[in-house]
Amino acid sequence: MDPILEMLIALESLDAELEDFESEEYRNSINITQSASDEVFSQQIDKLKELREEVVRSLPIAIYKRYQRLREKYKRGVAPVVNGICANCFMEFPSALVSRPVKNKSLETCPNCGIYVYWTK
Ligand SMILES: [Zn+2]
Repeated sequence: MDPILEMLIALESLDAELEDFESEEYRNSINITQSASDEVFSQQIDKLKELREEVVRSLPIAIYKRYQRLREKYKRGVAPVVNGICANCFMEFPSALVSRPVKNKSLETCPNCGIYVYWTK
């Protein structure tokens, strides 16, 4: 897999985790005492932010900026293509692209919504 694509996928999952940890609802759904949970959560959040920093430092700045803009717009910066369909905007990819034997070897974006995409199977 393209190393930048790999980093973007890692960044997306860190951002999703951070969002979870920072949401009240998620905290309340975990069955531990309040004071214990506050400490655990803040440690987890610090750890996730550190990991995120590392990933961001290794990404080309233009790609990171675009990722951030996509997240502001769609709440995500990268999406899988599932059965030839973009999981962000549900556009069907041209069959020539879908049937290529080699995928995920370069950074690609959805021609419709512009999100970074990776291919599942
Ligand atoms: Zn799309």
